[in-house]
Amino acid sequence: MLVTLREILKDTREKHYAVGLFNCVTLEMTKGILMAAEETRSPVIIGPAQILLPPASLEDYCDMMLGMARRARVPVALHFDHGFDPELVQKAVSLGFTSVMYDCSMLPLSENIRRTQSMVKTAHAAGCSLEAEIGHVGSNDHSVGAQIADSVYTDPLEARQFAEETGCDALAVAIGTAHGVYETPPTLSFGALRKIRDLCETPLVLHGGSGLSEEDFRQCVRDGISKINIFTHNNLVAARAAVENHTEKTGAFELMEKVEEAVKRETIRHIRMFGSEGKA
Ligand SMILES: [Zn+2]
Repeated sequence: MLVTLREILKDTREKHYAVGLFNCVTLEMTKGILMAAEETRSPVIIGPAQILLPPASLEDYCDMMLGMARRARVPVALHFDHGFDPELVQKAVSLGFTSVMYDCSMLPLSENIRRTQSMVKTAHAAGCSLEAEIGHVGSNDHSVGAQIADSVYTDPLEARQFAEETGCDALAVAIGTAHGVYETPPTLSFGALRKIRDLCETPLVLHGGSGLSEEDFRQCVRDGISKINIFTHNNLVAARAAVENHTEKTGAFELMEKVEEAVKRETIRHIRMFGSEGKA
């Protein structure tokens, strides 16, 4: 069943678990994630991101994923991740996404607050939740340019001010993770995370989750993370399953279940590390 991000995260902090956002771009990935959530009785968040749009439009992703989310036997939030263009975020809201991330994390604090406040109004008027980002989670891919690649750690006092002034439903924080494939394991600042949690009631989001250790995930959840984003890991798992099962006589159709099964297996593993099994 389709629910908002606010609804899906509401018990996370009190009951010490996090809900996974597993970004997906194909039917097989989406199906594998939803099968994993149903099998573990876990709530789950799915959806594309602005940077994943060129091969399919927001409408294409939405038509496929909205129907699948509605038919799921567990709570599912359909999330548009890292929307940078306000027009696209508004479009996601009007298409029926139940959650959008409006990412103004590369702008100065006052401008981030101003733009987020305005988008929160738009989203809430349509019954949609909004995630914002304070500080900046960088990228392991340095070819994207220094402004995007370099992380800026979240200042706990700024996080409190941001949460209070914007009324956002979830807040992404930068505590040492980065997007993409890690060359060396990251060192997370759990002390900073605990300070943010103590100052800020808004559910906190960890981006760049692919490749973290089980211990890191569990510590993040203990210290106040409510939502963990995974894309790179399942993206690689899906491609690897296709390559490993391919022969001269296998076509795309024959590979569908292989990809679904591989994504399902890895999603179940993450759901268990996040502690959301049985919480649906
Ligand atoms: Zn992210």
